[in-house]
Amino acid sequence: MDSDGLKRRLEALWEERARIDAEIEQLESQLEARERAEKRGAEVLEVEPARGGGSYVLQKVKCGKPTCRCARPGGQLHGPYWYYYYRKDGKNRSKYVGKNRPEGV
Ligand SMILES: [Zn+2]
Repeated sequence: MDSDGLKRRLEALWEERARIDAEIEQLESQLEARERAEKRGAEVLEVEPARGGGSYVLQKVKCGKPTCRCARPGGQLHGPYWYYYYRKDGKNRSKYVGKNRPEGV
């Protein structure tokens, strides 16, 4: 391969690596979000990548009140509601979004 050919091949591989890295990051975020939601007793219905990083999760949740119907085994959960899961300063965070997922993010 001449040097132009080598450069073109390298550029193609760098692009492929960047694409794979981005997909890995996105899938890791989705897996982490799902596992964090389930650990809190939520039922996960959907997980979607957020454009700026992190994941949106549609989940049915426990409210935390010990006397609520959702606290009983097999009891009906609340929602579903969307939550945004993301990392900031190396920490996992999440915030309540609402009944509808924000558009275009
Ligand atoms: Zn409840």
